[in-house]
Amino acid sequence: MSCKNFMTRAKDAYKKSVYDFITDIYVVCPKCSKQAIVKTPGYSFKIDFENKVKCVCSNCGHSKILREKASIDLGSGSKLPITYRIYHPATTIDPFFYLPLWLKIDCCNNVLWAYNYDHLDFLKTHIKAKLRERNDAELPNHSIGSRLPRWMTSKKNRDIILKCFEVLQKK
Ligand SMILES: [Zn+2]
Repeated sequence: MSCKNFMTRAKDAYKKSVYDFITDIYVVCPKCSKQAIVKTPGYSFKIDFENKVKCVCSNCGHSKILREKASIDLGSGSKLPITYRIYHPATTIDPFFYLPLWLKIDCCNNVLWAYNYDHLDFLKTHIKAKLRERNDAELPNHSIGSRLPRWMTSKKNRDIILKCFEVLQKK
């Protein structure tokens, strides 16, 4: 990779958001505890979203669409039920079924986690880049570049973190 490309790539990291990686999310299967995948059309909530988000496990055959998961009934008392769902993005469970992420590991008194292997590669590349020069004013709010916790970018944790990445990449 040329120096210029590398710089461009590192800069792009600051524009990317964790939400961009909510595609195929690797999770622990609720039935067999092996690796399952929550497939989503992205964090977009387009029409028919609840039918398109599904958890599938190729090990035990578990398969569930989001619509099948109970939503919260607000008990409106009217004939039309008023229900809603709470999504939990950017934490160690998948945002939809709340299943534990497959790619997570205790690291430096915190948890290193990723939704999928692309996300993992992205974080690793970004942390390794060591490029900390940036114009904070230009950073979008949710960009990974602006949101990476300090323990992840601390030089003293670097070796441990990279080891944890290796463990996850082989998982
Ligand atoms: Zn399973």
